[in-house]
Amino acid sequence: MRKKIVAGNWKMNLDYAGGISLFSEIVNMVRDEKKGDQIAIICAPYIHLNSLAKLGGDVVKIGAQNCHQNDSGAYTGEISAGMVKSVGCEYVIIGHSERRQYFAESNELLAEKTVKVLANGLTPIFCIGETLEERNNGTYFDVLKTQLEQGVFGLSADDFAKIVIAYEPVWAIGTGLTATSDQAQEVHAYIRKEIAAKYSSEVADETTILYGGSCNPKNAAELFAQTDIDGGLIGGASLKSRDFVDIVKTFNS
Ligand code: PEP
Repeated sequence: MRKKIVAGNWKMNLDYAGGISLFSEIVNMVRDEKKGDQIAIICAPYIHLNSLAKLGGDVVKIGAQNCHQNDSGAYTGEISAGMVKSVGCEYVIIGHSERRQYFAESNELLAEKTVKVLANGLTPIFCIGETLEERNNGTYFDVLKTQLEQGVFGLSADDFAKIVIAYEPVWAIGTGLTATSDQAQEVHAYIRKEIAAKYSSEVADETTILYGGSCNPKNAAELFAQTDIDGGLIGGASLKSRDFVDIVKTFNS
């Protein structure tokens, strides 16, 4: 059985006190209200990770939103996977479209980061997704395939089995435009088919594939009910405790 995951991505929001306060609310609500074996994760800015990992315990897991591809050295302003691991993080988002767009992160660089994250015993949440132009001109399957091939298909089957994939159509992130459940399912099924072709149907069946892009408590149930959608990567709605926990609870029944 593949894992069901709801991961929040706080992006560059919340000062220290604000992060502790929101996270404490989320932990209490998840502890009281979550019924299934779904995993709740918050991917927070670096300043929060140490404190949140201690507060979250087994109730809410912690992830970083990025890390550097090297272990240490003269990379002013950067944070390594080992550093993230040392404060109790278990997950790292790799290749979010905002990193690809604003920080020019290439598939090749993201492949290096993924290897480093795995080498440190962390789980990469590897993001792929097409732009609106690529969706409209019909090249989106090719774009997604290239992102997979260059980003993660260099991994051994054993390592690939440890990662989580997040499909996040760029046109749906922070825009209020959600992919329809049919559009999302079509792509998730395609991703799983490509994983099966590269590795095996067993590996594909076990891979958790999240949907991200304006997911909220109203649309989560329909999206997560799709055969190949195993949960969500949640931006805006993860900044509201009630909304985030209601999305987590989509898996309660
Ligand atoms: C994201 O940033 O990963 C995301 C999906 O954002 P939003 O939910 O706000 O669209």
